Amino acid sequence: PDEERAAAIAAVTADSSTPTIFDKIISKELPSTVVYEDDKALAFRDINPQAPVHIVLIPKNRDGLTQLAKADERHKDILGHLLYVAKVVADQEELADGFRVVINDGPNGCQSVYHLHLHILGGRKLKWPPG
Ligand code: C5P
Repeated sequence: PDEERAAAIAAVTADSSTPTIFDKIISKELPSTVVYEDDKALAFRDINPQAPVHIVLIPKNRDGLTQLAKADERHKDILGHLLYVAKVVADQEELADGFRVVINDGPNGCQSVYHLHLHILGGRKLKWPPG
């Protein structure tokens, strides 16, 4: 039953039409500390930071991109844009000593919000490999 419940929850959270908490952040219904915004992307400080700098970067229009595994040809431009914005945000945050960009995908990747997002982490020496 636990596995069935987990599978049911995963199916719901991964549904492309199910709103997530990030929709409320995009609409500003939920407050967040925005560090970068343009017409296609939004970056804000993670509420549960795992490093001195921990920023979440999302596409404003999810367009089926609940997770990277759902990407197809039409998403190539936004994926490229997000990676470039990650670099712009790293510059803004003065992460010249280095930083990490992470995309958690699916249950094994420990993804918890099914709206594609990049984590930008820095401000300390990060460990490798991750857990
Ligand atoms: O990769 P994952 O799906 O686990 O990442 C979601 C991230 O979004 C978490 O790091 C969590 O702390 C963050 N978050 C947030 N503000 C919220 C909800 C989640 O910064 N309101």
